[in-house]
Amino acid sequence: MLKKKPAIDKKPEQAVNFRTLVPQDFAEEDTSCSASSSEINQSRFNSLSRKKEALPPVVSRVTTLLCEAESKATSRDFAKSVELLEKATTLGSACAAAKLGLVYHGGLNSTVNPDYASAAAYYFLALKLIYMIPNNKWDMSLLLDVIAGLSEIYRKQMCRTEDGDIWNTGVKAMRHIECTLMDPSMTKFLSHKDNQKCKAARIHMNFCLAMTAEADGEFTEALTLYGTCKRIGECNFATADKLVKKAHTKIRILERQIPKVKPICISCDFEPKELSDIWKLLVCSKCQVVAACSRECLTTHLATHNKKEHEA
Ligand SMILES: [Zn+2]
Ligand SMILES: [Zn+2]
Repeated sequence: MLKKKPAIDKKPEQAVNFRTLVPQDFAEEDTSCSASSSEINQSRFNSLSRKKEALPPVVSRVTTLLCEAESKATSRDFAKSVELLEKATTLGSACAAAKLGLVYHGGLNSTVNPDYASAAAYYFLALKLIYMIPNNKWDMSLLLDVIAGLSEIYRKQMCRTEDGDIWNTGVKAMRHIECTLMDPSMTKFLSHKDNQKCKAARIHMNFCLAMTAEADGEFTEALTLYGTCKRIGECNFATADKLVKKAHTKIRILERQIPKVKPICISCDFEPKELSDIWKLLVCSKCQVVAACSRECLTTHLATHNKKEHEA
């Protein structure tokens, strides 16, 4: 039986010796974590076995662990399967870390209780391991699995204030990954399908980053990030497409909250240079589109409203 892990102070990255990092274990064709049909497993197993001779020992060790974990899961020996995945993760397998993220995210019968903090920790570790390999070898299916899982935790389980530490760790990781994915030199060699996955991952990340900015009261930043989701557009992945629609709604709501007032006095043209002085400007309560530097200037401006109404 698996021991319940302490939630947040669990730092799996410290347990991993990065010198044993094994990028190849997920860099080949489709090592997607979610496939479960035995036929696919069989063919994957065969292709992995065929590769075995040529691979360095640690890679073949990880490959064996992943295959064993899969077959233990198939025969419903979940405790053993988790144990094997943990071993593979310690050897630097991003795929194993991602699978553990999924396991803790959803729970596993009576073997593992859902635990979003552990799930997030394993997802972060997977991202870290992916980030450490050359980006032309990134497995988009794996990356999207991890990011979609994380995004769900951000949207449904975590609270910006209470889970500040985990939250910020993920934001940092997502910023790094987003920086790489938004680089056209990264995406230009991707297949159409991988490009769509890349887009979906970017939508998830930008949405999480936008949520963060919004929660922190940085509405202009939030608007830009929701705008990025909108610009990336739909990509035929249900959840990501839903987030694009949500981003549209968020933009409409936020635009109403951000006053579109030019920070210049309407009456005397005074233009404050310091942010603190900008905040001191008085916004005209009547038209709400202009500001004034003082009561006097505001009164002068208000008089123009009265005059116009008289003339009308
Ligand atoms: Zn003025
Ligand atoms: Zn006015």
